[in-house]
Amino acid sequence: MMNLKTVLRKELKSKPVDESKLGFGHVFTDHMLLIDYTEGIGWHDARIVPYGPISLDPACQVLHYGQEIFEGLKCYRRQDGGLNLFRPRANFERMARSAKRMGMAPLAVEDGLETLLALLKVEADWVPHQEGTSLYIRPTMIATDNHLGVSASSTYLYYVILSPSGAYYATGLAPVGIYVEDAYVRAVRGGVGEAKTGGNYAASILAGVNAKHSGYAQVLWLDGVEQRYIEEVGAMNMMFVYEDRRIVTPVLNGSILPGITRDSVLKLAAHMGYETQEARMDINAVIQDIQAGRITEAFGTGTAAVVSPVDHISFKGREIPIGKGGIGPITQKLYDTLTGIQYGRLEDPMDWIVRVN
Ligand SMILES: *Cc1c(COP(=O)(O)O)cnc(C)c1O
Repeated sequence: MMNLKTVLRKELKSKPVDESKLGFGHVFTDHMLLIDYTEGIGWHDARIVPYGPISLDPACQVLHYGQEIFEGLKCYRRQDGGLNLFRPRANFERMARSAKRMGMAPLAVEDGLETLLALLKVEADWVPHQEGTSLYIRPTMIATDNHLGVSASSTYLYYVILSPSGAYYATGLAPVGIYVEDAYVRAVRGGVGEAKTGGNYAASILAGVNAKHSGYAQVLWLDGVEQRYIEEVGAMNMMFVYEDRRIVTPVLNGSILPGITRDSVLKLAAHMGYETQEARMDINAVIQDIQAGRITEAFGTGTAAVVSPVDHISFKGREIPIGKGGIGPITQKLYDTLTGIQYGRLEDPMDWIVRVN
C-alpha cells in the first residue's frame, strides 16, 4: 500500500437534504485525494485533504496542450447500508492505458484502487440513499510542468473528487432521439479516441450543441476515415438488438472508447442467453435493418445512464423510428439486471462487485 497521509476538514459541510435535487456533478464532498508524480521518483505524497481549489501556474502544460486523462465510476449504497463499487479495477486499468497513449505516467492499478477505497471510507456518509442515486467518482490526471515547450511533462498530478449524484432516470428509462453526424468526427484512425482524455470531449461539443438545437439528445458518431461506420453515441457506446435475440455493437477499432458498461452488457447478455457480436457496422446497412424491422431495439451504454434507449434516429434529413418505439424489453432487462448487481439487489455471477465496507 502507498503511504497515505490524511488531513481532515475541521468543519464538515452539510450534506444535501433533498436527494431528488442532486442532479449530476454539482455538489462535491468534504475531501479529495491527491498524488504527485516526479520523474525519477515515481508517484509520491498520496494525501487526503479538504476539498478545494488547486493552484496552477498559468504556464502549466495541461492548460495549453491538454495532456489530461480521467475516469468515471460510481459508488452504490446497498440496502444493508454498505457500499459497492462495480469493476473498479477495469477503470484503473483503462486509466493506465490512457496514460500510456497520452505519454503520461501510469498509476499502478492497486495504488489507484487502495487509495480510492481509503477516500471512500472517509466520505462514506456522502453516498446518497435514495433509489437510483450514487456517489460519482472522478479520478483525473494532469500534466503539471510549467513551461510552453511542447513535450511530455516530467511531473503529473493525480486527483480524485467525489460528487453525490441523483438518479439518472427519475421516472424510469427515457428513450431519446439521436442525430447521425455527417460533418464532424470525434476521433480518427491512429488518434486518441480510445483514451479517456478531455480533448475527445472538446472535439465533440459543437456537434452536440447543434444536435440539441435540432431537437436530438445525442450525436451518433461515424468513423473518422470514411464517415460510414458507426462508432459511438455521444459519450456512450452503441448497441443494436437484432430480431429480439442478437446484440451487436461496433467492434473496438482504436478510435472507440472501450466502455466498461459495454463490456459488461456483452458479458451479461451472453450469460442471459442472447447472442452477442462485435462487428463493423455500416450506417447504411443499419438504417436498412431498422426500416426492415430487423433491428428491434437500440441503446447507448455508459456508467452515467447504464443504458439509454434510442427510439428514433435522424439520418440525412429523415427521421427513422426504431422498433416499436419506447423502451425495448431487452434494453429494460439488461438495465434492471446490471443495476440490480450494482446496488447488491441481485446475485453477482461474474464477481464484478468490490465492497467498500
Ligand atoms: C467513458 C466513455 C464511455 C463509457 O464508458 P463506461 O466505462 O461504460 O462508462 C463511452 N464513450 C466515451 C467517449 C467515454 O468517454
